[in-house]
Amino acid sequence: MDYTNLAYVFSAVLFILGIKRLSSPKTARNGNAIASTGMLVAIIATLISFDLLDYKLIIIGMGIGGFIGILFATRVEMTQMPQMVAIFNGFGGGASALIASAEYLTNYQDNSLSVFLVITITLSVFIGTLTLTGSFIAFGKLQGFISGQPILFPGQQPFNALLAVGIVASSYLLASGDVENLNIFYTIIAISALMGITLTIPIGGADMPVVISLLNSYSGVAASATGFVLMNNGLIIAGALVGASGLILTNIMCKGMNRSLANVIFGAMGVPEETSKSSGKQINIKSSTTDEAAMILDAADKVIVVPGYGLAVAQAQHAVREVAEQLEKMGKKVLYAIHPVAGRMPGHMNVLLAEANIPYEQLKDLEEVNSEFEDCDVAIVLGANDVVNPAARHDTSSPIYGMPILDVDKSRTVIVNKRTMNPGFAGIQNELFGFDNTVMVFGDAKEMLTTLHKDLKEL
Ligand code: NDP
Repeated sequence: MDYTNLAYVFSAVLFILGIKRLSSPKTARNGNAIASTGMLVAIIATLISFDLLDYKLIIIGMGIGGFIGILFATRVEMTQMPQMVAIFNGFGGGASALIASAEYLTNYQDNSLSVFLVITITLSVFIGTLTLTGSFIAFGKLQGFISGQPILFPGQQPFNALLAVGIVASSYLLASGDVENLNIFYTIIAISALMGITLTIPIGGADMPVVISLLNSYSGVAASATGFVLMNNGLIIAGALVGASGLILTNIMCKGMNRSLANVIFGAMGVPEETSKSSGKQINIKSSTTDEAAMILDAADKVIVVPGYGLAVAQAQHAVREVAEQLEKMGKKVLYAIHPVAGRMPGHMNVLLAEANIPYEQLKDLEEVNSEFEDCDVAIVLGANDVVNPAARHDTSSPIYGMPILDVDKSRTVIVNKRTMNPGFAGIQNELFGFDNTVMVFGDAKEMLTTLHKDLKEL
């Protein structure tokens, strides 16, 4: 009986059950635990089946990895999640490339590498190394170490095409008989590392989360290729699942922004400044206070809260729950409208609001909630900007044209909270702020909500 493969099948079942449960905030934590148990089963099965493994090295590796993991996980802000995911993807890709390289370097001289093995090793090294360097560029762009603007140079596309030809040619040479030529192998590593950089630098900071999700998928494909190198079914399955789920996530993000993946990767769209017709127009805004906002809310029956990236920056999730509970005590119906790309990652808002124990039933997706705005008395927009910009519906020159948005402007009154008139992630002004039914309440979201809560209680 092959217990190792049986254990891998069991862990694959746990992975799939875990991923299934990740699809709802209610079951997500439990899903995470189930999938982690699956990984533990796979690791133990692997360690037992290779009883020659050196436990000392494993413990040292776990120690170093665990330390880095804890350091990042405790220091990272909720708003820096995409950067953290980028680094982890990079390490994942790098690990796959290292394992495949080790397999090559230990066997390249004794003719034991079949053509199939050389191809899988090359694939793993190529995708893994590209993921490593690409992820670090993505991290640098989001963290501000590297310019968020697309970095372009003359002849960039032909240069990338040349690198691609170089990779295919050297892989062919390695697989077709020149397997002992170390220089070819090192050339493959160098070209892959360069391609990770040259393919990522022309992509603007605004599109980085999509790139990170795509690199996440690549890291899975690299792991799966390494699984073929080692003939390890557990790794093949886990890698394929990461590859597929990363691709699904990338697709969700592209749909949320109404962009094709090709447009994200080759479109060189950065953080365009004031390029659209509507963003150039002068708008007149009405600035208001929290007492006035409290009075507007007092007269409302139905209120829809629209959280955005700014709410996450302000860590105002608890403050918003308190305001919502107060409104409910006053007999109002309160809903939360969640845009698929509100924040900086899909699910960002759901996770943030779940952290503050906001009931899941009140969280409504874009499709579900958009019809609710027509009979909504007040929409409160908290640190959201692009996802409520009506220009996406009509301004064909806007960089966000076609992106599905939350129709907050259809509510009777819109209260918008942000700190300044600075634009959001897409870098464009929002015409909503000048609409007749919009009032602006400036300030940090947490401070504003705390004062609003007080004002509501004093009514
Ligand atoms: P935006 O980035 O459009 O706007 C956020 C707003 O929050 C800003 O206008 C900012 O204005 C305000 N803000 C910042 N800090 C605070 C604070 N402390 N208190 C109050 N307000 C604050 O966010 P959205 O959520 O509307 O849109 C998300 C954007 O991210 C979209 O462009 C989307 O395409 C992009 N994106 C999202 C992805 C995802 O998967 N979620 C993936 C890729 C991109 P001010 O500085 O004046 O306060």
